[in-house]
Amino acid sequence: MDKRLSMIEYDKRLDTLKHWPFTARDGATCTAEKLAEVGFFCPNPDSDPDALQCFLCLKPLEGWEPMDSPFDEHKSHSPDCKFLKLGCQKIEDMTMKNYLNVIVKNVAVIQVLDEIQKNVLKSYDDEVAKNEKAFAGNKAQNTRIKK
Ligand SMILES: [Zn+2]
Repeated sequence: MDKRLSMIEYDKRLDTLKHWPFTARDGATCTAEKLAEVGFFCPNPDSDPDALQCFLCLKPLEGWEPMDSPFDEHKSHSPDCKFLKLGCQKIEDMTMKNYLNVIVKNVAVIQVLDEIQKNVLKSYDDEVAKNEKAFAGNKAQNTRIKK
């Protein structure tokens, strides 16, 4: 299986973070558990231990500080991540199959919504352009009438 796909599982992600330096015991908020909870894993723990990546949106992030909030960092650097949008916690309880279904379905739904939104905006733009043209036409006509 694709390595990244196996990172769907919390335990697998946590496994890649065994080396993580910040712990709750030291009062840190940026712990391996919290990072794994919000989707992060470490692709190369030996050569690049600080470079983490979200298994779903693939956002790579490094330069972590002990007091960072993994959720907030993830959200601010990758606001459209489906894993965050679907609620990571809820997803962890699902079986892999359900999980994939939800992701696939939601990605499809989000794509459809994006498409609809684009079309709505497009027809709105068309409407505005039409009105502007009509308005300009009226103005030209009015100007002519006044002459
Ligand atoms: Zn993500």
